[in-house]
Order: sequence, then C-alpha cells, then structure tokens
Amino acid sequence: MSASQDCIFCKIIAGEIPCYKLYEDDATFAFMDINPANDGHALVIPKDHAKDVHAVSDDSISRTVITAKKIATAVEKSISPTGINLVQCNGPAAGQSVFHFHMHVLPRREGDELKLNWGLKPGDMDAIGKLADKIKSNL
Ligand code: AMP
Ligand code: ZN
Repeated sequence: MSASQDCIFCKIIAGEIPCYKLYEDDATFAFMDINPANDGHALVIPKDHAKDVHAVSDDSISRTVITAKKIATAVEKSISPTGINLVQCNGPAAGQSVFHFHMHVLPRREGDELKLNWGLKPGDMDAIGKLADKIKSNL
C-alpha cells in the first residue's frame, strides 16, 4: 500500500489528520467532506495513493466503486435525498483540488442548483458529525 508524504488524504487514512470516518476496509476508506456541497456529502478513497483516474489501479478503482455504493446506500437510508451523484474529478479544470483519487457521494435535492465545480464552503462541524453518526448507523 503506497502513501504520499504530502497528501492530505493519505494523512487522513494514517490518522494523522482528523476526519469523520464512516467506513474502512483493507483497500478503501470513507469519510465526510468538510466542505459539503449538500448535507451528507461523503468521500470514498482507495488506501493505495494514486493521484487520479489515470494512475489508480484497476483493483483500487473497483474496490472504491464498491465502497461508494455501500456509502450511497447508507446515505439514502439516512437522509432520503431525492437523488445522489457519484462524482469523480481529474485535473484542475475538472475541479480536482486533492490529488489522491476519490469519489464524491453527493446527495441531491430538487432545485439545489448544484453544478459541477461547486466550490468549497466550510461546513458546520457539529452537523457533519451528527450526519456521520446517522450514516454509520445505516452501514
Ligand atoms: P475535489 O475537488 O474533487 O478534488 O474534491 C476534494 C474534496 O476534498 C473537496 O470536496 C474538499 O472539501 C474535500 N476535503 C479537502 N480536505 C478535506 C479534509 N481534511 N477532510 C474532509 N474533506 C476534505
Ligand atoms: Zn494520498
């Protein structure tokens, strides 16, 4: 399992930076996004560091998609959004800001007007923590 020393997501996996963890297995890790585009916004990452879709191994991306499905199901049960996007960005023009491959599990509401490249706005940490507990209870 390779890690990159200056990668924020590798540090989250290693427990060096705190997060609202949702799930972990031998190959993947899931946690809450701290700049949620909507309530319940979560991220799923492979443990093996790879910067984007071009670099990630077939095994890592497969396992990440399987975990994203698990998290999406728990989000659905937890907050009953009217839709969920699984989003994945590669390169700055595509909105990638963290260069460790990740999938967004992004709950949607009718009329939320979310667009690709939705921007980063800090969330309420207490609210994020409560949503993390709710989603975990549905895993
Ligand atoms: P992207 O813009 O697709 O690269 O997505 C990176 C995501 O990581 C953004 O939605 C950020 O809000 C999120 N993010 C960055 N740092 C952290 C962190 N320390 N904990 C949780 N989410 C983070
Ligand atoms: Zn990394």
